Amino acid sequence: MEMNFYSLGAAEEVTGSKHVLEVDGKSYLVDCGAFQGSRAEADRKNREFGIEPDRINGVLVTHGHFDHCGMLPLLTKGGYRGNIYATPATRDISSLVMMDSANIQARDADYLRRQAQKKGEKFTWEPLYTEKDAIEATSQIMGISYHRPFFMGDGISCEFFDAGHILGSAMANVTVNKGGTERTILFSGDLGRKGKPIIRDPERPPTPDYLVIESTYGDRQHGKTDDAMKQLAEIAKQTAARGGKIIIPSFAIERTQELVYYFHLLTDEGAIPQMPIYVDSPMATNATTIFQVHPECYDEDIHEAFIKHHKNPFGFNNLHFTTSVEESKSLNDLKEPAIIISADGMCEAGRIQHHLINNISDPAATILLVGFMANNTLGRRLQNREEEVKIHGMWFKRKARVENINAFSAHADYVEAGDWLTSLDLSRLKKIFIVHGEPKAQTAFKQYLKEKCRAEPVIVKYGETYTLD
Ligand SMILES: [Zn+2]
Repeated sequence: MEMNFYSLGAAEEVTGSKHVLEVDGKSYLVDCGAFQGSRAEADRKNREFGIEPDRINGVLVTHGHFDHCGMLPLLTKGGYRGNIYATPATRDISSLVMMDSANIQARDADYLRRQAQKKGEKFTWEPLYTEKDAIEATSQIMGISYHRPFFMGDGISCEFFDAGHILGSAMANVTVNKGGTERTILFSGDLGRKGKPIIRDPERPPTPDYLVIESTYGDRQHGKTDDAMKQLAEIAKQTAARGGKIIIPSFAIERTQELVYYFHLLTDEGAIPQMPIYVDSPMATNATTIFQVHPECYDEDIHEAFIKHHKNPFGFNNLHFTTSVEESKSLNDLKEPAIIISADGMCEAGRIQHHLINNISDPAATILLVGFMANNTLGRRLQNREEEVKIHGMWFKRKARVENINAFSAHADYVEAGDWLTSLDLSRLKKIFIVHGEPKAQTAFKQYLKEKCRAEPVIVKYGETYTLD
């Protein structure tokens, strides 16, 4: 048996997850994510696929984030006709994410075409894929629940374990059994954290021979997850007392539903003043619908608080999901305190920008940041509490307070990842392949893992082949 591992994305960086397991010349792809970052660079990297789609023998998807599933339509467009395996919730979220991307690409193409025409230039840019390609990719995804082992090929099986990262997120535990030799390779996917709302804690799969692990926060520690709700309540009370609105830039998937869930609990407990809460993002509303139909992914707490009492965790009296642009705009006229959750999470586009324009100069308002803000984004400038910021080409004085809750992270920090690792049976573990992290975080994480266990940690380089014996 000859077995190799290599990476075509998320090697010494965090986006574009694409890892390949080769067994006796057959290739199995784990994740097929999009590179994100500056437009030109991301576009180039996403077009250079690195492997001919029709040479792939099977595909696993760990979860529905764009940087893990966003390029699946390129596989089907390129001639891949095989199965794509994912949990049922991941299938649904991936479908939403791929369709959204196809839609954005089509709109970008229209815009760029018009710009080129105005300048009399030749227009050559084509979207990476269309909605038709996204639908085709969805049709190839087989939804397979956690703990239901399945065969991907001759002597190769896989079992999904809960990764505790987002709804439906999975670790893929691949077992190769050939010629009397058995080897297990565990792909952590994005590793979540204990105590997150809605979803379960990361599970502990049986002992692997090889582990491929993410390292997003290889050099950082987060606040405790149980602090998030207390902080939310405090900020809601203070802002309502000042008579202002709370504007929360949020990611459409998971973060928005966590906020809704917490606000539901806080409202039921009477821990926050009565005020309307708006989810003003079509994508977030669609994602919430997916959350409602996957109770098999919920943890005990949400069962206790809601399901047992036949209550919808994502619906309550004060909560409103806006749909039309008119409804969204009408929120500008609200005079009373309210909470507005909108996308995108880093404030770079979408309806959140209108809400910021309307509230940023109000000293009674709070802009509440609950996610990671990348460099050079409006979100990062707000996080830095800059006194003046540019939105839609206009300058605004920032009088609103900016608050930050960093206990919402969906990724394990290095201590949590290390604790999860040492909670496994490591008696067979030979090597740990570190992926999905910036070089600085990876170097620190490698050192930390060296101290934590005997297995050799390796920082995976793009395209380099590692033999698994
Ligand atoms: Zn993720």
